[in-house]
Amino acid sequence: MIFVTGGAGFIGSNFILDWLALADEPVLNLDKLTYAGNLNNLARLKDDPRHLFVQGDIGNRALVAQLLARHRPRALLHFAAESHVDRSIDAPGDFIATNINGTFALLEAARAYWQDLASAPKSAFRFLHVSTDEVYGTLGPADPAFTEHTAYAPNSPYAASKAASDHLVRACHHTYGLPTLTSNCSNNYGPYQFPEKLIPLMIANALAGKPLPLYGDGQQVRDWLYVGDHCAALRRILESGRPGQVYNVGGCNEMKNIDVIHTLCDLLDGAAPRAASYRSQIAHVADRAGHDRRYAVDSGKLQRELGWSPAESFGSGIANTVRWYLEHRAWAADIASGAYRHAGAAA
Ligand code: NAD
Repeated sequence: MIFVTGGAGFIGSNFILDWLALADEPVLNLDKLTYAGNLNNLARLKDDPRHLFVQGDIGNRALVAQLLARHRPRALLHFAAESHVDRSIDAPGDFIATNINGTFALLEAARAYWQDLASAPKSAFRFLHVSTDEVYGTLGPADPAFTEHTAYAPNSPYAASKAASDHLVRACHHTYGLPTLTSNCSNNYGPYQFPEKLIPLMIANALAGKPLPLYGDGQQVRDWLYVGDHCAALRRILESGRPGQVYNVGGCNEMKNIDVIHTLCDLLDGAAPRAASYRSQIAHVADRAGHDRRYAVDSGKLQRELGWSPAESFGSGIANTVRWYLEHRAWAADIASGAYRHAGAAA
């Protein structure tokens, strides 16, 4: 069995769906079901005994210890987090509570469990911490991409809280020997992403005839990683990564925000045409405070050591994504109405 935290969120649910499509190893999924947790993402697993869902907080050390003792997982993949930069600017407290204190509680429970493993070799257990490229700060137009040796320089409360969690994970390996792995990935996109993030927000607003809010001049550059490629990278890191190591995961797709939005509008113009192009809904709004200008990720280490590279180009990934949102309007409508908060446990 593997233990996943935050498995009702965007990346965690994609990871679980892919995992159970590829293997028969069961998944224990601990998720608090914050506004970002959505059990509709896992509706396909409703009657699948391989998915065991538990609603709870990673900061509840006693609960995590109990789950570890009862289910004896061979690995823990830590996705749970407060993940939205804008929310971290408005209300950073939840980010400190979950991303820092919650990760610390999880590490303490995992360390105690690992230290008590009597029969199996201690290297049999692995703790994979899923983090972000935002810990590295911002790049100028000609700077080389972030490597695993780039100094940490987080600029938002979200990035700072993730940076702190990365340091706690690192310290837990160096001090106690817990077999940890850390991945720092770029912006993910794909099915089941909560419609507060750029791509699903733009699709939802476009279809609803609402403005498409573009921060500042729209020239901010992000590297876009298809969520299925990210999940494949995580499986590779989990199985073959070296304990204590950090692996950057990027999509090799640097794009300006304005170009991403134009691409979305053009795809929607083709798939769901209206009298006027969706581009006419673009509305410039004041830039986000402290907005990082450019992120770019060098995944060379992951490619060289573990043979992973992204399979999806931005062109095909974004076309698949737009098609998915058009075909799953009920999923988005449930979020818009709030009905998703009452989705039943999918186990
Ligand atoms: P998300 O916001 O969609 O999902 C987070 C999940 O964690 C939700 O299901 C939520 O209910 C759960 N959660 C929050 N607080 C919790 C707590 N205290 N205890 C238990 N569960 C809790 O996030 P995501 O986009 O799927 O991101 C997953 C991870 O990947 C995060 O750690 C994030 O920092 C990292 N990451 C995401 C991206 C991206 O583009 N989405 C990029 C880089 C890194």
